[in-house]
Amino acid sequence: MADVDALVAGIRAGARRPLARAITLAESTREDHRAVAREVLARLGKPRDTLRIAVSGVPGAGKSTFIESLGAHVIASGHQVAVLTIDPSSAISGGSILGDKTRMATLSKSPEAYIRPSAAGETLGGVARRTRDTMALVEAAGFDVVIVETVGVGQSETTAASMTDLFTLVLAPAAGDDLQGIKRGIVELADLVLINKADGDLKAAAGRAASDYANAQRLLRPRRESWSARVVQCSALHDDGVADIWNAMREYRSLMIDSGEYEKNRSLQARHWLWQETTDKLVDLLKGHTQVKAELPALESAVESGSLAPSVAADQLVKAFMNMTGESS
Ligand code: GDP
Repeated sequence: MADVDALVAGIRAGARRPLARAITLAESTREDHRAVAREVLARLGKPRDTLRIAVSGVPGAGKSTFIESLGAHVIASGHQVAVLTIDPSSAISGGSILGDKTRMATLSKSPEAYIRPSAAGETLGGVARRTRDTMALVEAAGFDVVIVETVGVGQSETTAASMTDLFTLVLAPAAGDDLQGIKRGIVELADLVLINKADGDLKAAAGRAASDYANAQRLLRPRRESWSARVVQCSALHDDGVADIWNAMREYRSLMIDSGEYEKNRSLQARHWLWQETTDKLVDLLKGHTQVKAELPALESAVESGSLAPSVAADQLVKAFMNMTGESS
C-alpha cells in the first residue's frame, strides 16, 4: 500500500501533515481507513519509554496555561510532548469548552510539540477510543510525553485516569477562600494536586487551600503503593513552581518503574480497554443486527408501557442476536 509507505516515511521524518492524516484515518468510521492507520502503527513499531499524564480541572483553573508552561520544561529536558484533549462537552452540547479559544499559543508553534483538539460530536466512549488510538500514533511518532487534558465536570476524569500513568488535578482559589467546585471522587484520583494562581492577590488563599488539601489528602487511602499524593502550589502564569512539578513527575515515574507498579498499571489498563473495546464492538453489532432491529420497536413499547419486564425483553433481544449469528445460547 503506497499510502502506508508515504505516511510512515513522513511520520518518521517528523512531518506533521502525515501524522495528522494517520490520526484522521484512525478516527474514521470507515473500516478500510482504520485498517490503514493500524498498518501505519504496526510499521512505526513500538515507541520508546513514554509517560502519559492526565491534566484535569474545571474551566478557568489554568489547565492550558499550566500545560503551556509544563510543556516548555518537558521539551527543555529533551522530550517531545503531545497534548490531546477529552472534552465531553462536545458530545453533550455539540459545542466545546476546551476548543473555543486559541490555547497554548507558544507550545503549538514548537517543533517538539504536537497539539490535537478533541474529536467532536461523539459519545464519551467514542471520544475515549479515539484518544487512545491517537495516543498510540503520537507515541509511535516519537512524542514520548503525552498529556491528556480533560475538563473537570464529569466522567471524563475516570476515562482519562484509565489511559494515563499519572493524574494531575489543577485547582485555583476563587474569591473568598473556596476552591472552585470539584468532586471529591476526582480529588481521590489525583497523584498531584496543583493549587494554581499562587500569585498576587490569590497567593494567601492558595496557601490556605494547599494546607486544607494536604490535610484532606492525608485522610484518603493512598491510590498507589509507591507514591503518596502531593499537594503543590504554583503559578502557571509566571512559570513559578512548574519546574519542580515536572521534577516531581519524573520522580513519580522512576519510583513507579522501580517498584514494578508502572508496568502493572499499564497491563491492567490494557486489559480494561480490551473489555471496553469488545463490549463496544458487540453493542455496535447488536444494534446493527437485522433481527434485533426488527424486534426492537415492539419490545421497546412493551417495556415502556409496563407490559413486559426489561429483563425479559433483553433476553429476547440477545436470543434474536445469537440465533442469527449461528451461536446457541
Ligand atoms: P483552563 O480553562 O483551565 O485551561 O484555564 P486557562 O489556562 O485558560 O486560564 C484561565 C485564566 O486564568 C486565564 O485568564 C489565565 O491567564 C489565568 N491564569 C492561569 N494560570 C494563572 C496563574 O498561575 N495565575 C494567575 N493569576 N492567573 C492565571
